[in-house]
Amino acid sequence: MLDIAGITVPPGTRRRHALELLELAEGTKVSLPLDLIAGARPGPRLYLGAAIHGDEVNGVAILYKALAGIDPATLRGSIVCVPVQHPLSFHADHRLPLSQFMKSPLDQAPADAWTCFPGAKDGNLAQIVAATLFDLVCRCNWAVDIHTPTRGGRYVPIAILPHPRLGENHARAEAMAHAMGSGWIMRTDTGFYVADGILCVEATRAGVPSFTFETGEGGRLEEDVIDDGARCIRNIMRWLDMIDGAPEPAARTHVMREFVGLRAQRGGLLVNRRKLGDVVRKGDVLCSIKNIYGDEVETIIAPADAMFVRTTTLSTVSRGERAATLGLL
Ligand SMILES: [Zn+2]
Repeated sequence: MLDIAGITVPPGTRRRHALELLELAEGTKVSLPLDLIAGARPGPRLYLGAAIHGDEVNGVAILYKALAGIDPATLRGSIVCVPVQHPLSFHADHRLPLSQFMKSPLDQAPADAWTCFPGAKDGNLAQIVAATLFDLVCRCNWAVDIHTPTRGGRYVPIAILPHPRLGENHARAEAMAHAMGSGWIMRTDTGFYVADGILCVEATRAGVPSFTFETGEGGRLEEDVIDDGARCIRNIMRWLDMIDGAPEPAARTHVMREFVGLRAQRGGLLVNRRKLGDVVRKGDVLCSIKNIYGDEVETIIAPADAMFVRTTTLSTVSRGERAATLGLL
């Protein structure tokens, strides 16, 4: 039996549900779409979420593809899937719910629900969304929050763990990340991914081991990324013994300890010189910046031996914009 969000899903059945989330100025109700699967047999409850940033659509497709073949009659445990965790951002096809943010930037601060966990039911839009999602997450045993970079960036498929200080539940999240088999894990204690307020950090702190799964490019649907992401989610379900079969491990897993973002010092056209996922050595040229007359005005150099884990796919950069991100081993 899956009893959640005010509805009951009998064992061996699957149900789509619209959970009321917000009311807009003209009275339109915005609801949170849920895909609820109650297995016929006992097992863990897995939370799967995507698109808390509205332009990160690969995650939506990863989830429908991963769950397409799941038979409730044979599933062990249950699944709480929220394919679009922030419907207003998704409607804007943007990281943030732009209409609300532009209407009143001050009242919408903080604007990013992803950073607002555990949220507040009497807070602003982002905090209400976070609180509603957190209620669902905390009724599960495990959780995965799927992202891509925002538009203009591309990641290798990487599990980014919550802060190691979260102890035993961090260790469980790490075991799940290895089982997922994407081949890339970030195990860091620094940077915004492990900050207080991030979905997977607060979920893990609350006793629901989880991580952020970044893959592919923002604003796009990419078949190869979706296929691989669906394989990763099914690997987790196999590892949790919710479905039959052994997880398909990655051929090799790179475990890294820190992201290093490299910003352009000059404006111009950005040309990547290395491929996403490459091993790079200190001093290697990662990208170059040409001015609009074709003169090379800057080369972005690797400051250390590392993996090239996130590229910038925008064709132009201004001074101060991120041109590349490395993962230090
Ligand atoms: Zn995101």
